[in-house]
Amino acid sequence: MYAINHAATALLIKKKQPTAPMFLLLVSVQLMEIFWVIFNYFGWEHFSVLNGKMHLDFLPYSHSLFSGVAVALISFAIINWGYNNRKLAIAFSIGVLSHVIIDMVFHEKDIRLSPFSDKPVWGLGIIDYPLLNFVLELMYGIFCWWYFKGSKALLIVILVFNITDLPMMLGHGDALKSFEKYPFILPSFILFQILITWYFVWRYSRKLKGRL
Ligand SMILES: [Zn+2]
Repeated sequence: MYAINHAATALLIKKKQPTAPMFLLLVSVQLMEIFWVIFNYFGWEHFSVLNGKMHLDFLPYSHSLFSGVAVALISFAIINWGYNNRKLAIAFSIGVLSHVIIDMVFHEKDIRLSPFSDKPVWGLGIIDYPLLNFVLELMYGIFCWWYFKGSKALLIVILVFNITDLPMMLGHGDALKSFEKYPFILPSFILFQILITWYFVWRYSRKLKGRL
């Protein structure tokens, strides 16, 4: 799933737990992706381009069910016992877990049970059908906005970022050559998307000025 719709998941959690600061919820839903970016920079995880198609073939540390559960539990422990905030601890952990679970629906079969074994591995592979991927993600983003009862500006943010994802979803063949040649481009691009969608969703999810 692309950055804007992971970010939109924070709206669902915010609606259920209004006291949780939006910026922390936005961090939670993208925490595993931030790990993916860092691990790709270090070369611990990697993607490949094969026959003109991008594959995220090795990402067991940032995107496995075990890692998702482990990071959710660690986050829960830190926030619950370190900061005495059970409600936020639960909300943050759900955000962390949401990332891996949603990615299982969209990714190819590349999400393992744990980093310690190749199998089982999950992924419904919706990413292989770019238009279906686009429509489902767009509907999900709009659903999050509707559930949150967001502003018109927030809806526009979700629509615009989903539409700008389309070229990336449709990208194949020679267009991917530069990603193959310069492996730092993809994680940098994803990091940029995470940061910019964080900002816009945070900015336009505030109902009134000064109220978080
Ligand atoms: Zn992901």
